Amino acid sequence: MIANHKENLQNRYANNVQSTPIYIDDAESGRKGYYCMGCTREMEAVKTKIVDRASYFRHYVKKNSPKNRCTYSDKTYRHKLAKENLLTNKRIKVPAVYKYSNNDSDPAIFIKPAKIIEAQTVHAKLSFYEDESGNIKWTKATDIDTEYLLYKPDITFFDKTDTPILFIDITTSHKPDKDKLVSLLRLGIDAVSVIIPKASPAEIDQVFEHSQNTKWLYNKDEINTEYIRVPNGNTKGISHIDKEQRQLFAESNRCRKAQINNLIRAIGKVLESQPYRDTESKFESEISRVEKNTEELQDRLFNEEASLREKLSTKLEGETRAVDDEIDEIQSRYANLEERYIRKREDLEGNGTELLGSIRNLQYEIRSISGSPEEREINHRKEADDIERKIGDIEINIDGVIADREASKRSYDEHIRQEKDKIRKDEECREGIPESSRRRILEMVDKYRKEEVKIVDNIKRSESTREGFAEQSKREEDELREEFETIDKSSAKAIENANFGENPYLSEQYEAMLSAERLVSDYIVYHSPFTRLTKIKEFINSGVFKNWV
Ligand SMILES: [Zn+2]
Repeated sequence: MIANHKENLQNRYANNVQSTPIYIDDAESGRKGYYCMGCTREMEAVKTKIVDRASYFRHYVKKNSPKNRCTYSDKTYRHKLAKENLLTNKRIKVPAVYKYSNNDSDPAIFIKPAKIIEAQTVHAKLSFYEDESGNIKWTKATDIDTEYLLYKPDITFFDKTDTPILFIDITTSHKPDKDKLVSLLRLGIDAVSVIIPKASPAEIDQVFEHSQNTKWLYNKDEINTEYIRVPNGNTKGISHIDKEQRQLFAESNRCRKAQINNLIRAIGKVLESQPYRDTESKFESEISRVEKNTEELQDRLFNEEASLREKLSTKLEGETRAVDDEIDEIQSRYANLEERYIRKREDLEGNGTELLGSIRNLQYEIRSISGSPEEREINHRKEADDIERKIGDIEINIDGVIADREASKRSYDEHIRQEKDKIRKDEECREGIPESSRRRILEMVDKYRKEEVKIVDNIKRSESTREGFAEQSKREEDELREEFETIDKSSAKAIENANFGENPYLSEQYEAMLSAERLVSDYIVYHSPFTRLTKIKEFINSGVFKNWV
């Protein structure tokens, strides 16, 4: 142990003549221009060849020199190298995390493996503190009030969001420091301590590539994990025990318990203490004073409000009435307006509908007149065809009429000729009739004429006396019938004798004549529309109407 202690005090580094640090392995044995980094006095390199014994620099002590021994340790320099490494490389390998039981014989429970932690930024010598509101803050300033200072890590790793993620303490031993652990519990940020060996710069760099020199001071996962006893025989892979680490975590957990207990005690003490009771009674009296004041103020406020309201309402009464009147007037005016508006709108709508109808009619007419030129042409052609067909019909009718007229004339001529022939024969025959017979015929004719006059008179008479004299009428009718029969007979006789004279029953040939005359007048009636249609046809063919559209 003594040798070890001695070894710990030995320096492995010294400055050369150029004040450049030099490691013992690179030095030549003896006084070759080496100087203490602390007191700058000369040193000599002690290079040993004995196994398990380290080489080192020691102060060269002249005879009779004062006995003020230099206590400088190159630890400061080695720590400087370590910090430089972390600031430059921004990475460190941290050990695996285990949960330890209170019972030494229980195995550790594995939580997380060892891993490399890389930082976005790295800062040295920051001071972490709690502000008055209890928020965690940090600063580069060194004159921070120690009352608020919580922790001053050698190195702090920050992530991308500028949040501190790891504290690194460069140290010579892993002995737990209660204050430090309590502060870390308060901060809740993972922290490790790293022992820097008395070694070459290259070996010091290697410290951060493995986790053998590194221990957890505080780990969130460890503190938040409860140790669960594992049944015997199922301890495979979890038998790891790191005594130093176990001690650190145990201390940290004890600290937490102690901290909580202290807090509870502190609160209890405060509650029991005279100053607290004084303060409490002061608070109570203050509260009752404030409450009383509040009540008074509320009363005053209420009263003032009531009187103000009264004043205001009196003052505003007149104005309110005026405003109300105005509102009424505006409302009635508006109502009139609305009524007028509705009426006007209805009028306009009516006119609009009417106009719309007219417009539609006009549009329809225009469309029917206009259409496409082709349509118009087709329509006019159809009209012309129609008219031509009608004209054709009329012409056929006229032809028929003319033919009828000619036929009638022919038959009339023929009839006249036959009549003349009969008259001639009759005259020839009459000349052949003896005087006595001729006289008898003449007498018969005379008698017939007389009877005829008498019959007409009878008819007139019977017509005037028919009503009321049905019986008489019937008799007279019978008489008349008899008379007619007689006349008929006489007529037949007369015809048999070819003497029809002026007998109207024989004049049916006149009917044919009249019918022919009617056809001629029909022709005149037809002829007039025919002329009209001919004119229309001429007009259509001229195409004048095309200019109308
Ligand atoms: Zn020295």
